Amino acid sequence: MADTYKGYSMNIGLEVHVELKTQSKIFCNCSTTYGAEPNTQVCPVCLGMPGTLPVLNKKAVEYSLMAGLALDCEINMNCKMDRKNYFYPDLPKAYQISQYDIPLCKGGYLDIETDNGSKRVRITRIHLEEDAGKLIHNEEDETLIDCNRCGVPLIEIVTEPDLESANETDVFLNKLRTILLNLGISDCRMNEGSFRADVNLSVRKTEDTELGIRTEMKNLNSFAFIKKAINFEFKRQVDNVLEHKTIEQETRRYDEKSKKTYSMRKKEDADDYRYFPDPDLPRIKLQTDYVENIKKNLPKLATIRKSQIMEKYDLSSYDCEMLLSKPELYDLFEKSALYTTAYKTLSNLIISKKDCILSISAEKIARIADISCQELINISTAKKLIDMLIKEDFDVDETIKKEKMYQINDMDILTCYTRQALLINKKAVESYKKGNLLAVGPIIGHVMKLTNGYGNPETVKNIVTKMLSDIN
Ligand code: ADP
Ligand code: MG
Ligand code: ZN
Repeated sequence: MADTYKGYSMNIGLEVHVELKTQSKIFCNCSTTYGAEPNTQVCPVCLGMPGTLPVLNKKAVEYSLMAGLALDCEINMNCKMDRKNYFYPDLPKAYQISQYDIPLCKGGYLDIETDNGSKRVRITRIHLEEDAGKLIHNEEDETLIDCNRCGVPLIEIVTEPDLESANETDVFLNKLRTILLNLGISDCRMNEGSFRADVNLSVRKTEDTELGIRTEMKNLNSFAFIKKAINFEFKRQVDNVLEHKTIEQETRRYDEKSKKTYSMRKKEDADDYRYFPDPDLPRIKLQTDYVENIKKNLPKLATIRKSQIMEKYDLSSYDCEMLLSKPELYDLFEKSALYTTAYKTLSNLIISKKDCILSISAEKIARIADISCQELINISTAKKLIDMLIKEDFDVDETIKKEKMYQINDMDILTCYTRQALLINKKAVESYKKGNLLAVGPIIGHVMKLTNGYGNPETVKNIVTKMLSDIN
């Protein structure tokens, strides 16, 4: 970042909206399926016709509790739904049923890994509410309304302003998304709007403890936009501060084309919404057993972590489990993965040498994985190098060069060795001819031995099988 911005820090608090994957809407029986013909999944209740009565969907409460419990929140055992009044064309009722002063869940946290180690991001609250409809601006300059989304259950997860960079925000949102996906309570599809975040951001002089005035960027629907919007908005605010302009507490829109944020409206206060308890809905009183039972049946956080790792490094479930079987092992993998993208080879090496590899530096292991993945050395050589490094330290590239440990890919050389091996292993050849396919093993082994172990195992296998079938 340019010098101008040095000495300034940002604080980010998020409001993450997550559509819950219930079959029916929050207060009626309409389907929540995404992508249906506009206005085919509506009824008098979700359209808010006078005289209709909402009935709370129990599954929506259960899913919200799952999110809250997974994020270590405290549960409000006795809470209520409130009306938030506002006029907006995508909400025919002119009020949204939400939760105001008593959210279902409060005071949780989520720990994330950052460049400076682990960081705790506090969750202020999680409340349950209904989604609004969608406005469609068509080419004839008309605005159409699709009410299918009206009344889809939604949780809003609000964080404290603990995040301090675009990157941290990205890590947080990704982790949160993985957790919710694993809980099975939402599709979390950003492109379909089932996972979307408002980003509140303020700047301050790094040494100051008091936070600056924040702006809010709404409706960011991709991780890439969120990062760009944050970086743009940070600079815009610091520029303002440097020019002694005041920062208005306002809602801004991020424009993907110009990559800038624009003012939408001055921020309204809670007073403007005239919140009041929804008179059509009874209080939500939770039984201790009910909540305890949900807590007991939550997918284990370990499972969540595992699938997060599988996704990040594209590893198999088995590899992941092996790496996670010892904290130090996974730690070494993660550190090494900073130096290479050959994750599969890296994890193979670490798993197969798990009993002795911990003393080797992450950088060297990564280098070996890299060279092996590029097929410059074969996997046995890679493992041999690890064994050697355990005994004494050396420069990996130099040693490979000096000891001529490069993988032999040359067809002529490998064919020549195979010919020798076939002559020597007459018995195995006979046995193979009689149909014992397993007899190919010792022959391959012999060829590999002739290459000092440096042959390309895949190529050797192909040549051996080819020559054996030619004999037939
Ligand atoms: P609303 O947007 O509905 O007024 P809140 O007042 O609860 O809701 O704040 C919303 C978000 O703004 C929270 O995520 C909070 O962490 C964040 N926030 C509050 N103050 C600041 C600040 N000074 N800088 C950055 N984020 C802030
Ligand atoms: Mg807000
Ligand atoms: Zn309905």
